Amino acid sequence: MEIRIEGLTKHYVSEGKKVKALDGVDLVIPANQFFTLLGPSGCGKTTLLRCIVGLETPDEGEIRIGGDVVWSKAKGIAVPPEKRGLGMVFQTYAIWPHMSVFDNVAYPLQVRGMSKDVIRDKVAKTLRFVQLEGYERRSATRLSGGQQQRVALARALVGEPKVILFDEPLSNLDAKLREETRKELRSFLGALEITAVYVTHDRVEALALSDSIAVMRQGHIVEIGSPQKIYFDAEHQFVADFIGRANLMPARVRAHEQGHTVVESGLGVLRCQQRNLPAGSETILCIRPEFLHVTRGAQDPDGNPLKGSIRSMEFVGEVYEAEIRVGDRTLLARIDPDVPVREGDTVDLSVAPAHCMLLSA
Ligand code: ATP
Repeated sequence: MEIRIEGLTKHYVSEGKKVKALDGVDLVIPANQFFTLLGPSGCGKTTLLRCIVGLETPDEGEIRIGGDVVWSKAKGIAVPPEKRGLGMVFQTYAIWPHMSVFDNVAYPLQVRGMSKDVIRDKVAKTLRFVQLEGYERRSATRLSGGQQQRVALARALVGEPKVILFDEPLSNLDAKLREETRKELRSFLGALEITAVYVTHDRVEALALSDSIAVMRQGHIVEIGSPQKIYFDAEHQFVADFIGRANLMPARVRAHEQGHTVVESGLGVLRCQQRNLPAGSETILCIRPEFLHVTRGAQDPDGNPLKGSIRSMEFVGEVYEAEIRVGDRTLLARIDPDVPVREGDTVDLSVAPAHCMLLSA
């Protein structure tokens, strides 16, 4: 089901001060997408999710789920959370420790007054789906963190919602389990026709799971796009910087030549991604460290040639992370271990125009 949000505003009052958590958010979440709300702490992600669920009341605006208005100030509509047909998975799992796995998953169906037989069938089917068959009688606390998270997922899915919402569901797991559970989640949800709205401040999670990512800042949505679009071809400096490591610097547009925008920056004159910017305008140049190739010798003929000196090199497994002085800037770069260079060396670098992003500040 599609979710459509218009002009959503929400304030909190904290210690006598008004905090604007959502500042006129307009957003369309397409049906059956895995859609992530990503942003730094306090940008309003959780508030937006809780407004969709109905756990928080907005001040202004409208929320539609599958075409039905579930909240509108102007129309005086406020559908209660349990009538919105949603499933929700929280950061803290929120599974009940004194109950068995079966009872945890059965609970939402019992509340709806379904018959015992129907409940047994639906719970069995859902537990099979999340690969917890045979755990029905186990106390929910005698499970690993990953299994507890699967119980929470089962409980959110058992009522066959058309939309499922996640609030940082993996943040209590250690790094390895987080990665495993992330992969499971992707494969479980990929098998369903369901719209997933996922809140996280973890960029890797957002990149790995999402069909689309909305990057938020201070109660606004800054940019929406596929993981690839946001990583390789962002429009805003804040987004490019938040989603990955970035060398950022001011630049001025000189001209447009053969499908490239040529800029002048602290690195010299570079051919960049084509952008519809007039000559003379100010922009932000962004180069990700992995696209700065240290070559020492043969350079990519299509790339922008640069010269620099290695300030520092740190082995981080797989590659060296290096700081390289180029022009009047110090750039982060990655150097393959088989490139024979050392700290202090002067090196040739090259960066393809397609990887010189031009952003708005
Ligand atoms: P995090 O990643 O830290 O959970 P978030 O992006 O989800 O952050 P929100 O929790 O939505 O952000 O909070 C948005 C703003 O509203 C923040 O400034 C926060 O301090 C404030 N806020 C959230 N909940 C309340 C509340 N119940 N009372 C007062 N202020 C609140």
